[in-house]
Amino acid sequence: MQPRRTGVDPENLIAEFMTLVSIGSPSRQEGHVAAYIRGVAEELGFEVEEDDAGVALGGDCGNLIVRVPGDERFATVLMMAHMDTVTPAMGINPIREGDRIRSDGTTVLGADDKAGIAGLLHMLGVLSATEETRPPLEIVFTVCEEVGLLGAKALDTSKLKAEFGFAFDSSGALGFAVAQGPAQAKLKAVVHGRSAHAGVAPEKGISAIVVAAEAITQLPLGRINAQTTANIGKISGGQATNIVCDRVEIFAEARSLSPDELAMQRAAMSRVFEETAARHGVTVDLEWQDSYPGLTLHPGTPLRLIVEEAMNSLGITPHFGSTGGGSDANVIAGKGIPVANLAIGYQQIHTLDEWIATDDLVTAAELMLQIVRQCAKSVKV
Ligand SMILES: [Zn+2]
Repeated sequence: MQPRRTGVDPENLIAEFMTLVSIGSPSRQEGHVAAYIRGVAEELGFEVEEDDAGVALGGDCGNLIVRVPGDERFATVLMMAHMDTVTPAMGINPIREGDRIRSDGTTVLGADDKAGIAGLLHMLGVLSATEETRPPLEIVFTVCEEVGLLGAKALDTSKLKAEFGFAFDSSGALGFAVAQGPAQAKLKAVVHGRSAHAGVAPEKGISAIVVAAEAITQLPLGRINAQTTANIGKISGGQATNIVCDRVEIFAEARSLSPDELAMQRAAMSRVFEETAARHGVTVDLEWQDSYPGLTLHPGTPLRLIVEEAMNSLGITPHFGSTGGGSDANVIAGKGIPVANLAIGYQQIHTLDEWIATDDLVTAAELMLQIVRQCAKSVKV
């Protein structure tokens, strides 16, 4: 493939991507890939800072922040990708076949989100080789995205100067950008029954399993409507067949594009647990946690205009839509830095069949560059 007018060199980029995916980086084991990223960025002359998220999260490294100086007449721009992947993530053997790259079928590929990392590193190379005007950049590579956006949550955004940003970690075809992403809340419900010998005195017991089962059959779950979903993901309890079970733990979540609907869904789920427990004369502890806030990218906002212009300059048709998933972008936006989350072309992520088209890998890197160039068109007032 020929070098592109944007400055992206497809073969170099693809080679870097192959190297990056070969460095296994399951959550909390991002150290090797972080060292690789640091090496590339420092070689280009950029300052790299690692925060203490690794210590806080029990991982082998923290989030990386690469600071790229630029013309300070422009707002500082945040660009993000995550370093961890889902498992199986060790011994990844990427195979380039025709116009695609896939794993050998025994692991994930890790294009989620190594395609984002490869593009950003390649972008840094292109920018450092030219004299073109650019805004100051803060490139953040997070840890532990796949296990609850923990790296982004641990990131101290007061260390950042960025006024807005772009995350490169959405599913969908290139050109897709998240206009609306749901907020998520998680529930841990503990049903307390009363234990008894199941053969000698079952009437003295109240089975937490029976109470939990009855509650679960009445909970509003699955797709509630176009905006709202809910799921029970895990349940555990009980010790042996001869004991009436006195404790069941249920882990559930609810998501909604609408904060009001999320509140209603939470209340509805809580009510079912409480009423069912009361009917059986037992108690239930309900512990709700806000996992992450929603994400929006409204029409006409400067951030969205930058995305549209950058895509248009590459002949990509922008497509703004909703997603059911959450990402680091939700967390950072929740901390006050608006972030647009863009698709970079990876396919069938979180499966052994994950793949990416080489063309999309290249175009994603071009999109990153064009976004930076677009950001250098509007002088800060
Ligand atoms: Zn991802």
